[in-house]
Amino acid sequence: MDTDITIIGAGVIGLAIAEKISQDFRNVYLIEKHPTFGQEISSRNSEVIHAGIYYPEGSFKARLCVEGKALLYDYCKKYDIPFKNCGKLIVATSKEEIAVIEGIKITAGKNGVDLAVLDQNQVAELEPNIFALKALYSPTTGIVDTHSLMKRLETNTLNNGGEIVYGSEVKGINKIDKGYEITLLDADNNHYRFTAGTIINSAGLTSDKISEMTGIKDDKLTIQFCKGEYFKVNPPKNKLISRLVYPVPHKNMEGIGIHVTIDMGGGVKLGPDVTYLESNVYDYKVNPGKQEAFWKSAKKFLPFLEFDDIVPEMAGIRPKTQKPGEQIRDFYIMEESSRGYQGFINLIGMESPGLTSCIAISNYVHGIVRKQKN
Ligand SMILES: Cc1cc2nc3c(=O)[nH]c(=O)nc-3n(C[C@H](O)[C@H](O)[C@H](O)COP(=O)(O)OP(=O)(O)OC[C@H]3O[C@@H](n4cnc5c(N)ncnc54)[C@H](O)[C@@H]3O)c2cc1C
Repeated sequence: MDTDITIIGAGVIGLAIAEKISQDFRNVYLIEKHPTFGQEISSRNSEVIHAGIYYPEGSFKARLCVEGKALLYDYCKKYDIPFKNCGKLIVATSKEEIAVIEGIKITAGKNGVDLAVLDQNQVAELEPNIFALKALYSPTTGIVDTHSLMKRLETNTLNNGGEIVYGSEVKGINKIDKGYEITLLDADNNHYRFTAGTIINSAGLTSDKISEMTGIKDDKLTIQFCKGEYFKVNPPKNKLISRLVYPVPHKNMEGIGIHVTIDMGGGVKLGPDVTYLESNVYDYKVNPGKQEAFWKSAKKFLPFLEFDDIVPEMAGIRPKTQKPGEQIRDFYIMEESSRGYQGFINLIGMESPGLTSCIAISNYVHGIVRKQKN
């Protein structure tokens, strides 16, 4: 085989896997269609280190998030990656919402995440400028500089002897004896082919297409692009909040509500909302017409916010496998021997909390590869 292990996709998850696998194996390649890493989901998100509050007990999302946040904090400390363990409030602004946050505390507890219940006065002590009748406080939630994280994962991969090939798009995969033949299209429009014993599909928004290319057809793995838009809070009002503040989540957990996110530079943004795109197009436009809806939604818990205090900022796209209105689905992480594709490892539907979970995911995938190679 030309390569022992080929990983497709240099987002935060593919990079974390490449770093981990290249510590233990030689001849590891990471292939990315863009000229550099993190040009898709990983650079268009809230950069929150989630605590693991909302996910169903025992799911990959719950397990890998809770394990992943601890690993990510340690990783950031070890490599001097900017992060802040700022904490998060989930606020109830009506009687009905108080009942909802009580349910959230129970779910979080099942995942091993302790949340404190705060009354109105206790909330005011932490965040004097917000309104809440009651709130949950999550002390382990934080934020991270995703770009610095990805840069470190890239550097470590290269230092471990892994190879990263940018500007090359996977266009075809054929199963061959004991592995796969991969066809790439490079930036000069040249096709070339090479072979791999193991493929790890970490292609984010098009991971379902990579899986289909190999021969795996499964409607449950079809990705629906789901856009999330953000509005920025203009200075000086960004200085009025110092923690993450979330409303109670949407029904079916389609998103966790238009929340307030702070970043490492002191910026504050509102979002993301949830809009399924009709076709899977890379539509990153922010609709200025949504300003009123964002403002009204945030004003419930940010009483100081005026309509003109926010401006459109950016959008990201979630790779959801559930259709609109369907129940939340788990990450799909699977070595596909049972479908006849030995050594082909799929990661599909890697939406939030994929960033938080990236190191835990890399350990899990590393375990699959070790088992397979031994
Ligand atoms: C709006 C939004 C907010 C979010 N907020 C958070 C948050 O606060 N906390 C959190 O934990 N998670 C969050 N997430 C989720 C998190 O961002 C993702 O789980 C994570 O970034 C996914 O990483 P990835 O490596 O799988 O995907 P990507 O970063 O998209 O990487 C996949 C890579 O594969 C490449 N690729 C695709 N097809 C091919 C091909 N054919 N050939 C070669 N390369 C290919 C792409 O170019 C891309 O670089 C959020 C997501 C969104 C959309």
